[in-house]
Amino acid sequence: MSLLEELYREAIMLHAKNPRNFGELPGADVVIEGRNTSCGDEITLFLKTDGEIITEITFTGHGCAISQSSASMMTERVKGRKLSEARDLIAKFKEMVVEGKPPAAELGDLRALEGTAKLPARVKCATLAWNALEEALLKLEEA
Ligand code: ZN
Repeated sequence: MSLLEELYREAIMLHAKNPRNFGELPGADVVIEGRNTSCGDEITLFLKTDGEIITEITFTGHGCAISQSSASMMTERVKGRKLSEARDLIAKFKEMVVEGKPPAAELGDLRALEGTAKLPARVKCATLAWNALEEALLKLEEA
């Protein structure tokens, strides 16, 4: 394993053990539940916006280290961002993990999950929280 891969693995384990923005969010504008039955991962995403910016975002759930660390890093990355920026990050994350494209710099420590693109069974784990976020943004548009 290269030094970079080791650092990435460590980042994933740190987030999985000590997830950021973990917990329910009272008064959330939208709540989305996501499930990855092939691995047993579950995530509930809570989101608050002021109409333009994601002011607060939290999650609860359980599952494998990849699903939980991806959710933790995702919430850190999109909190305080515009909805349009969040949409852009969703696209860039999926390009990396689903399409196997080189990671965009904006993804920050989420680049630690680049390796999951080579593990088809884990792609669903990595994208679980992101699909929930995408669904949440769609729901907000409809509201
Ligand atoms: Zn999983």
